[in-house]
Amino acid sequence: YVAKQRGRRRWIRYRPGMEDTHKRKTLLAHELPKASAEDELILHYQPIVCTRTGTVLMVEALLRWHNKLLGAVSAGETIEAAEDIGLIAEIESWLLNRVCADLHTIRRQLQSPVRAAVNISGLHLVDEHFLPNLDRAVAQAGLTPADLVIELTESALLPVRETHDSPAHRLAQRGYGIAIDDFGTGYSSLAYLHRLPADYVKIDKAFIERLHEDSSTVACIQNLIATLGMESIAEGVETETQSSLLERELVTLQQGHWHGAPVPLPALKKRE
Ligand code: C2E
Ligand code: MG
Ligand code: MG
Ligand code: MG
Repeated sequence: YVAKQRGRRRWIRYRPGMEDTHKRKTLLAHELPKASAEDELILHYQPIVCTRTGTVLMVEALLRWHNKLLGAVSAGETIEAAEDIGLIAEIESWLLNRVCADLHTIRRQLQSPVRAAVNISGLHLVDEHFLPNLDRAVAQAGLTPADLVIELTESALLPVRETHDSPAHRLAQRGYGIAIDDFGTGYSSLAYLHRLPADYVKIDKAFIERLHEDSSTVACIQNLIATLGMESIAEGVETETQSSLLERELVTLQQGHWHGAPVPLPALKKRE
């Protein structure tokens, strides 16, 4: 096993394109610190709808970075770079303030008291300044914690799953909504889900992609989530067929291109 591991590592070291990967990481690390100051970071918002009532329940804020040299950098790559160079807390703090300020405009445009969902990195979650900064951003915008839903992934939650004084529990105690993101992609999902103070569980798009051949898995997950007193949200709903299959399985909270892609604030409008 050890030999195999070593072999694998050696193989990774000589992977073709490795130099390019390294170059790109270096470039990302060089460009990202200047990004917010140069206004290269913006937010897109995507609706999460209730298909039963036809209303928007919340909007998820998604980071977008457009750089002169790199072009459009995906959210995944941006977040990874930010985590690598220790900029994640700074970027997400900026983002939280931005979202809180935007929420008034969002509500006006959608003519509805929607909540805002924000993704928070596991690294930022355990930062001592996270909670005080969050409270301040919310208060300064004249909002309350219940106006926000904090999206956390299983990997962010994993290290603290044993305690009842975890950052997630503290968020919940203050009144913030909590959503478990990308559910089903981690390892010990079922074993620890019931210990989490979550309101929502977002079923990863990998399950939605397979709906046409396997809807029983989603039915099973939805059942489990409901049993725990939480609500399921389907991610990556791209077609009408997927949407109605999900509805049949009682997953009426949905997000995806079928209901609306992530768009800049001005383009977020009430659907006629
Ligand atoms: P996520 O939180 O699971 O967000 C949903 C992702 O699915 C978004 O990708 C969204 O654009 C994409 N999506 C929405 N509808 C559809 C659809 O119908 N089909 C498909 N195939 N995809 C759809 P995006 O914007 O590229 O973000 C990727 C991930 O980056 C997010 O996944 C989230 O984990 C992370 N991310 C984005 N912004 C932030 C942030 O501010 N902080 C942190 N920590 N992570 C962020
Ligand atoms: Mg998310
Ligand atoms: Mg997700
Ligand atoms: Mg996902």
